[in-house]
Amino acid sequence: MICLYDTLAREKRAFVPADPRRITMYVCGPTVYGRAHIGNARPAVVFDTLARLVRHEFGEDSLVYARNVTDVDDKIIASAEAEGVDPSVITERYERHYLEDMRALGVRDPDIAPHATQEIGPMIAMIERLIGLGNAYEAEGHVLFSVSSDPDYGVLSRRDREAMVAGARVEVAPYKRDPADFVLWKPSADGVIGWDSPWGRGRPGWHIECSAMIAAHLGETIDIHGGGLDLIFPHHENEIAQSRCAHGGAPLARYWVHNGFVDMGAEKMSKSLGNIVTPAELLAQGHRGETLRLALLSAHYRQPLPWTENLVAQAKATLDGLYRKVGDSEEREVDAGVLDALRDDLNTPLALSRLSRLEGSALKASAQLLGLLQDSAADWFQGEADAGDIEARIAERTEAKKSRDFATADRIRDELKAEGIVLEDGPSGTTWRRE
Ligand SMILES: [Zn+2]
Repeated sequence: MICLYDTLAREKRAFVPADPRRITMYVCGPTVYGRAHIGNARPAVVFDTLARLVRHEFGEDSLVYARNVTDVDDKIIASAEAEGVDPSVITERYERHYLEDMRALGVRDPDIAPHATQEIGPMIAMIERLIGLGNAYEAEGHVLFSVSSDPDYGVLSRRDREAMVAGARVEVAPYKRDPADFVLWKPSADGVIGWDSPWGRGRPGWHIECSAMIAAHLGETIDIHGGGLDLIFPHHENEIAQSRCAHGGAPLARYWVHNGFVDMGAEKMSKSLGNIVTPAELLAQGHRGETLRLALLSAHYRQPLPWTENLVAQAKATLDGLYRKVGDSEEREVDAGVLDALRDDLNTPLALSRLSRLEGSALKASAQLLGLLQDSAADWFQGEADAGDIEARIAERTEAKKSRDFATADRIRDELKAEGIVLEDGPSGTTWRRE
């Protein structure tokens, strides 16, 4: 039984899907106008790990995982204008980079990746429905959601009205009936990307995109809705309001799961603060994708994760140790201790500490559930061990043999073999070669 902390209920709850043969999960994906940073990679890795666990528990084909691509947005339009290109040039480039970076971290592609620009029809239909129900209104080419029309508005973030208005940094615009009302549709100026609609040529607001695409691809009520903590308000609050009002009160999601931030020093890593590190940079420096993945899983997903060079170095050392132990073992049963830790609200730090005590096929299978130890040991260490290091360990082995400590001698030989180094004992001592 998996337990998940549900942000809406403010407690850990047993995860019971509505239909265990078709479990639905939606995670808010990237706005594609720049290279993803490590903070952006955290939800991708966390929800990839959750997806692996759900598939392990309920069956490989039990889950439909959707992660959207926001490919129409003011920042995209600004980038396209700055480069003097069509917005699609920007969005295609950065979507490609996003997928490359996430795959390098062992993140499998989601089952469905809906693009906002391909789903304008369902968005317009949902907006029309909200207007018809009295939950939205048109004003000066805009359509706004009327927050006061929804008595349950605020259930997720539990903010009072003043905090909501302040937190949303709402634009006080003359066409709004209430400063807390938010945009479902806005007009596009000539030369700016837009679509024809009953309210004139324009483009959708961000929040309606997710509500419309969830309904179109997964259904009115899904099992798990995920994303970063910063999306709780206003984005997810607004998604809930739109969807519930449009669907006769049906809840949008049965479990709300949010990951914490990646911090740089005392601050959250964010593009606007300019303190970002990207997977692309780290990979170019020679770090492996699995090292970054393990670093991202080293803290519990709801806790903040301070990003440091030392964290990356420790993750690398941990993986070196695991690869030495796993050798060329075949994957078999996942260890019960690792599984229990993951079932308990995806407790990856505990799962990793239990992993470190395993060997052989249980280690291989358990690590794979976390998306780790995907390489062979020989590939992992390929070209890494330098000659000086190898000679030092051969000397250590020779000493061990002299003092008849054959267990240590054998361990060193096996460790080197796992790194693709073969030892040959001869009359004049031990020589080595790469496999
Ligand atoms: Zn969303």
